[in-house]
Amino acid sequence: MAGQISMPGDRIAYIEEYVPGRNTFDDGDAVRAAVVGSPVIDREQRTASIRDPKGLTVPDAGDTIVGTVAAVMSTMFAVAIKFINGRPITSGVECICSTRSMRRNAVVALPNDVVVLKIASHLNGAIHAKMDEPELGILFTKCRKCGLRVITSRDGVKCVECGWFDERKLSSAFGDARAVELAGG
Ligand SMILES: [Zn+2]
Repeated sequence: MAGQISMPGDRIAYIEEYVPGRNTFDDGDAVRAAVVGSPVIDREQRTASIRDPKGLTVPDAGDTIVGTVAAVMSTMFAVAIKFINGRPITSGVECICSTRSMRRNAVVALPNDVVVLKIASHLNGAIHAKMDEPELGILFTKCRKCGLRVITSRDGVKCVECGWFDERKLSSAFGDARAVELAGG
């Protein structure tokens, strides 16, 4: 199915097996595309939906997103999504990432950090993301004390200027030049 494009009215699944998802309708027999886009068949959730290539602004479960941290709260942080699966978006949609399972007192993220996350679910109107894989986590961050450049050091980052050390959940791609660009740094 990947790479395939459905036209409005095209059958993408049967309603005996799948529930109509986004951008689809059912005609009593089949789930059909309501817009031009690529079909997404979610076998776990039993939904058939269409991803609109023009308006790809809301990520689905399993998508990888890159964004900037908009707010940090005690048990989660919010991220303004800039890229979905490497494609830029401008809608400003946000996701939240729970930090409850992380070590207490660790500074998981700072506002304006660039992070790469995987979308876990849509729940109660919010998009939930996770960062519990090696490639997920912080791509770009700055020193919490002086705001200058940091380098990887043990399980965190160390400031090249003032030597301040912070624990962070770094992505295995930490330091990638594109992440620095995204952060405007
Ligand atoms: Zn510093």
